[in-house]
Amino acid sequence: MRQVYADNAATTAVSPSVLEAMLPYFSEYYGNPSSLHSYGQKTAAAMDEARATIAHCLGCRPGELYITSGGTEADNWAIASTARLSARKGKKHLITTKFEHHALLHTMEEMEKEGFTVTYLDVHEDGLIRLEELAEAIRPDTALVSIMYANNEIGTIQPIAEIGKLCREKEVYFHTDAVQAAGHLPINVEEQSIDMLSLSAHKFYGPKGVGVLYCRRTVPIYNLIYGGGQERGKRPGTENPAAIVGMAVALKEACEAMATDMPRVAALRDKLIAGLLAIPRSRLNGHPVKRLPGNANFAFEGIEGESLLLSLDLKGIAASSGSACTSGSLDPSHVLLAIGLTHEVAHGSLRLSLSHYNTEEDVDYILAETPAIVANLRSISPVWERLMNEKE
Ligand SMILES: *Cc1c(COP(=O)(O)O)cnc(C)c1O
Repeated sequence: MRQVYADNAATTAVSPSVLEAMLPYFSEYYGNPSSLHSYGQKTAAAMDEARATIAHCLGCRPGELYITSGGTEADNWAIASTARLSARKGKKHLITTKFEHHALLHTMEEMEKEGFTVTYLDVHEDGLIRLEELAEAIRPDTALVSIMYANNEIGTIQPIAEIGKLCREKEVYFHTDAVQAAGHLPINVEEQSIDMLSLSAHKFYGPKGVGVLYCRRTVPIYNLIYGGGQERGKRPGTENPAAIVGMAVALKEACEAMATDMPRVAALRDKLIAGLLAIPRSRLNGHPVKRLPGNANFAFEGIEGESLLLSLDLKGIAASSGSACTSGSLDPSHVLLAIGLTHEVAHGSLRLSLSHYNTEEDVDYILAETPAIVANLRSISPVWERLMNEKE
């Protein structure tokens, strides 16, 4: 049976060259980068090079990067630090959207408990915010705007440069969760007026457990933890050179391959979308083109997304009903509810996320197997039966 991995928004495979670049740092070059001897110098030099590479990919300086354990930590740190430091100047209002990742939403909820007011911008049916609504929401006491670059469930891409420009004009800090975008879409923090940005290596063919918080040199940031001098004293602890080197190689590779990967993967996505929309009472969630090259998210009326996933898995197809973090819970996706789906329709969602490893044969296989699975699940679904009766 064919095996098709179409859950790349949850995580990607480490690329072979990334793995190869990492391996020496587990065995041969094991020095502590803070040590003065040649063992330490070797790893310290490799990490300097890795930071320079990452900075080059983002259009910033190496000294503006903080290595973290991933996207969740970077999001938490950016929000909590900026909020708490701004509160000292009397700014206690934060702005985000209703469809952020939980790493961000749950941090915002925590800030609310600390006395901050949070505005959650609406996300329209196309999966995009409206700039006018953001402009209206900004107040004199607004400390921070945090809007994700590309959504992890429906893949929609926000107008980041316009948002950055607006925030700059209004003198409000702008953070973006770019975990889904990094390595897949062009990023330049200068041109897009981004003050803070989160990314995570395992979403672009790098290792898990390592990410970056970019923080513009003019934006204050507090200590996440306390210890030695690593990460300029803000996030101390002995670094993980293998992971950091792997992340840099992965980002460089992904950015270099972007020009050819983006159109090729987008063409596969579009074939997938056209094919699955031929299923009756199906819909595409999110904007048809302002979406990540690899993301396709559907809702099929009358079925449960979880049953669909299990049936697809039996055919060797790995997909998701939404974000990995909420799967296992029976609540419908907050993202799909935010763009206006009813609970019932949101339950029948399917996210297929392609990578540069996927082929046209993979897409053909998904298109060959899915319609029969949907039809079969509908044939035993009381919800579908009711929908059909309503129609008559
Ligand atoms: C995966 C993801 C995160 C969390 O990143 P981790 O490195 O897994 O902690 C945050 N935001 C978005 C949009 C993501 O897709």
